[in-house]
Amino acid sequence: MRIGFAGLGAIGAPMAERLAERHELKVWNRSPDKAAKFESEHPGVRAVATISELGVDCDAVVTCLPTSREVAAIASELAQVMSAGKLLVDCTSGDPGSSREIAATLAESGISFVDAPVSGGPPLARTGQLTVMCGGSEADVARAGEVVAAFAAKVVHLGPVGSGHAMKAINNILLAANILAAGEGLVTLARLGLDPRKAVEVLNASSGRSFVTESLIPDRVLTGTWPRLFRLALLEKDAGIAVDTAADAGIDHPVLDFVREEYRALRAELGEEADYLDPIRLAEQRAGVVLRG
Ligand code: NDP
Repeated sequence: MRIGFAGLGAIGAPMAERLAERHELKVWNRSPDKAAKFESEHPGVRAVATISELGVDCDAVVTCLPTSREVAAIASELAQVMSAGKLLVDCTSGDPGSSREIAATLAESGISFVDAPVSGGPPLARTGQLTVMCGGSEADVARAGEVVAAFAAKVVHLGPVGSGHAMKAINNILLAANILAAGEGLVTLARLGLDPRKAVEVLNASSGRSFVTESLIPDRVLTGTWPRLFRLALLEKDAGIAVDTAADAGIDHPVLDFVREEYRALRAELGEEADYLDPIRLAEQRAGVVLRG
């Protein structure tokens, strides 16, 4: 297939790498130096300077951008150059309402849209093992499946356009809640003098465990490596989408509201470049302890 890819960020770049192994790939990035570097490191890939060049002649375009706002801007440009029957696969963690609007705009030009946000982070993108949650028609999601297969181990069709983004937002607000709770819980135990590694071992053999305690804390916190793989600002954005999604569905959501407000305050305090695990580091600093083995 001929594929265009927009957004060579922390997770977009390894996804594009996997696509380049299977497809004819063109890449576009807001900062052109990243696209040029990607082209030089991946023989056969072509970096383009404009969205129009990206969309023309492509069977599908994949977007992986911060929010649906950037996707909407690009989609309106793509609508001018992509021919009817082509496909936009949006891997951004976007919002369901915007996705429905983008899909409607593209449909006027006969272009299909599938929301296909991903989970697993850059490490699983590198190994082609992401989970992809899709919203769209049966036929469009089947076509999107052929594209995302390059970087996905699991692809689930959840419903019409917007369903993938609703699913991703709820997943990520649960992740956000678990990060805060695990951080506060573990610094409490450390302050009491318990060995953090033993505490994590017990949690992971007990009912309080989560992906945060099973994977993120052992790999990134107890080791003291703190890699910067996912910006806190993006997780705060996801928490906001989750709250709006619950409100739109008419569901009372005091817990989700609380988590969102905590992340809003953390984003203001820690800044746009903070990593999503930095709240645990902040909890350590406030408690005067370190969570190391
Ligand atoms: P990054 O912040 O690392 O990269 C963002 C990308 O979007 C860059 O290519 C950036 O270009 C581009 N961009 C930023 N602003 C604009 C704009 N106004 N117009 C066009 N392009 C723009 O983000 P990630 O790669 O981490 O995340 C991308 C999406 O994937 C987000 O929705 C995120 O929530 C989601 N996601 C991220 C995961 C992760 O672990 N990192 C995991 C799962 C989902 P430039 O290089 O010029 O800055």
